[in-house]
Amino acid sequence: MKMPMNGKINLLLPSPLHELKDPLFTEKKIKVFFKRDDLIHPSISGNKWRKLKYNLIGLKKDSILTFGGAFSNHIAATASICSDLKLKSVGIIRGEEMETLNDTLRTAKDLGMHLEFISREEYRNKDDAEYQKSLMIKYNDPYIIPEGGANTKGLQGCIEMIAEIDLDFDVIVSAVGTGATLAGICLGLNDKQKAIGIVVLKGAEYLEKEISDFIDDYNSKSSFPGSINRFELKHDYHFGAYAKMNQSLIDFMKHFYDQHKIKTDPVYSGKSLFALYDMIRKDQFKPGSKIIYYHCGGLQGIKGMENRYKVKFYSN
Ligand SMILES: *Cc1c(COP(=O)(O)O)cnc(C)c1O
Repeated sequence: MKMPMNGKINLLLPSPLHELKDPLFTEKKIKVFFKRDDLIHPSISGNKWRKLKYNLIGLKKDSILTFGGAFSNHIAATASICSDLKLKSVGIIRGEEMETLNDTLRTAKDLGMHLEFISREEYRNKDDAEYQKSLMIKYNDPYIIPEGGANTKGLQGCIEMIAEIDLDFDVIVSAVGTGATLAGICLGLNDKQKAIGIVVLKGAEYLEKEISDFIDDYNSKSSFPGSINRFELKHDYHFGAYAKMNQSLIDFMKHFYDQHKIKTDPVYSGKSLFALYDMIRKDQFKPGSKIIYYHCGGLQGIKGMENRYKVKFYSN
């Protein structure tokens, strides 16, 4: 089944920014504002739109090839956008094909994405020139986007997200996977502002360097001022590993939804929001601070995680 394609995508941009009221914030004398990239589009969500945007503008090819895991928000977003723009799409998926596709991959396939499953070992070569050349030949010269949209053009879209925030804030908190989003955020900040990245992978200490490299690489191709020292990573909020969770995370997400009617996902935004509350409770922000919580989206992945772990986060 194909979605109707009208060549036009409805995106809520600039994404909403609003203050979140909470007795804890009042007690600690801070203000927290939510930048709602989760509301941009139901399936082209959050930072994945930001990172795809400049990869698509001026595109001269009629097909896109990209990479991701079985629950990837980036795969979901790419499949959806390519369907809307009438582009062919190929998803190179890490891991064996399962008998029944999960919700993310099922939807991607229904939207017309061709899926190729490769082993975890083979997946490690995904950025190799030789391997990519073989994919170019096999799939008739597609435009290749790295996993997560993590390239220079991806960073450009994240810089733009910061420019949308019409508010003089001190700190912005975001989830970190590849680190491309946080690198783009840093490039968009001024000298007085700081980014805190909540790392959702276990043992990902390499990310400090990775993010600095993203920033350096961007700076070498453009004329942005130095922005390398504007971030700090927190490695204590991965809840066991990537896509792992525990009861306290589930309880937190449910409680937050009951209080504020805002959904988060267990892979990224639930962990980063849990971290924000924890840091606030531990007085890690000065009284008077204005904090932005960057809600990167990721809500399409909830269903897949619910099925995988036999839990239910939200009743609707
Ligand atoms: C992909 C994703 C991230 C991580 O972004 P990176 O640029 O890879 O660090 C964070 N939150 C959500 C919801 C995502 O889908």
